[in-house]
This record gives sequence, C-alpha cells and structure tokens, in this order.
Amino acid sequence: MKVLIATKNHHKLKELERILIPMGFDVVSENDLPHPLPEVEETGVTYEENALLKAHSGLRETGLVTVADDSGLSVDILDGAPGLYSARYSGAGATYASNNEKLLAALKGVPREQRTATFVSAIACVFPDGREFTVRGECKGYVAEKACGSGGFGYDPLFVCSAGCYAALSPEEKDKVSHRGNALRLFREELKKYI
Ligand code: IMP
Repeated sequence: MKVLIATKNHHKLKELERILIPMGFDVVSENDLPHPLPEVEETGVTYEENALLKAHSGLRETGLVTVADDSGLSVDILDGAPGLYSARYSGAGATYASNNEKLLAALKGVPREQRTATFVSAIACVFPDGREFTVRGECKGYVAEKACGSGGFGYDPLFVCSAGCYAALSPEEKDKVSHRGNALRLFREELKKYI
C-alpha cells in the first residue's frame, strides 16, 4: 500500500520510514513529489488535531493515503511545557539548541526526581474516502541536567528513558522504546481494521 509521510522534518521522516517500510508500506515522501508540501499552521489544541491537519494537507496535495506525526515533550513540573509548542519553545527562529538551552534554564536547580517528563507522538492516518484515525504513543523519562549522547535530534540529548538517553541510543534501540515507535506499533494494529 502506498502511503505519503507528510513531514518536513527529515529526522522524523527517517524514523517513520524505518518502521513503516519493514511493515510493507510503499512510502512516498515530500522528496518524491514534484513540489514541496505546503507549510501547515499547527492551530490544533491537541497533538491529534495537529497530526490530522498535517495529514489532511498531504492528502489534499497528493490524493494518497497520508500519515503524519505531531509530537512533543511534556515536562511535569513545567505544567506540561513545552508540550504542543516543543518545536517553537524558544520563540521565532527556534533551533534545537536554543530550545534545549531554554529547557535547561527552566529546570535549573530542579532535582532529578522532579524532572519527570513524557514524550508524546500522535500519528494520524487519513484516507481518500474520508476515513481517518489517530493513535498516540508515549515514553516516560526525565530531563537530564546536561546534554548526553551524540545522536538523534531535537530534545534527544536531554531526554532519558528506561533504556538510557535518547541521543545515546542506536536508531533501533530508540525505535523499541520511543514515543514514535510506540505510536507506530499501535498504528500498525489500527490500520489492519481499515485495509
Ligand atoms: P512538531 O511535531 O513538528 O510540532 O515538532 C515536534 C518537536 O518536538 C520537534 O521539533 C522536536 O523538537 C521535538 N521532538 C519530537 N519528537 C522528538 C524526538 O523523537 N526526539 C527529540 N525531539 C523530538
């Protein structure tokens, strides 16, 4: 089955491809399209709503079954921030480095046991005949006091789960425990009801 992965984030694309291709999907990405996908304004108030906005935009552009992810890191002591705003936490022009710096500053002096956090990924799948579904995967852990590991992207260097720091895990190790890996395994089960 041909599916479009509607994302402009090449790290997410790689993670989604890594899991969807072995599941037997014929994956299409923005790179295979004659023109780039439009930017989608993330106006939803939940991860699921934003994932659906991105997926519908991809479906409108291509007519293909489309999969999209919306994700973020929710820190308990910060009332769930950066949460939905994870990509733009440090404002306009935010980079992974500036977001990580802001997060470390917000948690300065907070002891390890109060640095608990959850990574969330909502994955939406929309079909040309109007059907749609979403699934949500999570991974619990805590925010490190300084960057660890050297791989990954985004908040990976600051997030530690039971398997270790996300940025120190191999891609395969991350997929086994990550919020996106967990969401994609639920996605695979849910999709069986639709095809
Ligand atoms: P969005 O889903 O495009 O709105 O952005 C989610 C943001 O959350 C990304 O820009 C990253 O900063 C962060 N994020 C999402 N998933 C991951 C992950 O697996 N590792 C590290 N950061 C992530």
